[in-house]
Amino acid sequence: MTFFSDQYSALVNKALDQEPNTDRWLSASGSGADDIERRYALGQEQTAQYVVWSREHQPAIWQTSEGKQALELYFEVEIGGVQVRGFIDQLIAEADNSVRVRDLKTGAMKSKFQLETYAVAVREAFGVAVNRGDWYLAKRGGLSRPADLTQVTAEQVGEQYAEMDAGVKAGKFEPRPGFLCRFCDVKHKCSFFR
Ligand code: SF4
Repeated sequence: MTFFSDQYSALVNKALDQEPNTDRWLSASGSGADDIERRYALGQEQTAQYVVWSREHQPAIWQTSEGKQALELYFEVEIGGVQVRGFIDQLIAEADNSVRVRDLKTGAMKSKFQLETYAVAVREAFGVAVNRGDWYLAKRGGLSRPADLTQVTAEQVGEQYAEMDAGVKAGKFEPRPGFLCRFCDVKHKCSFFR
């Protein structure tokens, strides 16, 4: 718990150095200052809950061939002709010698495409089978239902990356103003923001 509190305070202070005006901070509800306090309490609660869950369920963290635990595991692979880099929260060793990709979520938004990307990346970068993925949902203090990733292929995920890449290169950025604008990093500069 102390670790969470220290990290949270250090990161908030670092961010305050960059943007002291908390009214300009992105916030799901209320002012930026209120959000800092609210998330501090929520983070402590969710961290404690995760520790309890983890002790009870003892997730079997997979290890790479170099003996590195697959926590926040970095990968860099080419998918659909695009260099894709990222960090996977956890890889779990499964009884059938495959690994399960796991994303830890504090919010409610889940992306199946993210798990599909991880599946393709793990097969490519670490040469191990991936059949399932899931999310640890901090709001509920437990796992989601597992997602079947057996049918996900590099070609299928690659097509989506190639399409996104072509859109970026062509300068095609179709605005889709709506609910998600409130979480958008560039809303201060966006004329479509509402
Ligand atoms: S604020 Fe602008 S760029 Fe951001 S999500 Fe909304 S429409 Fe898109």
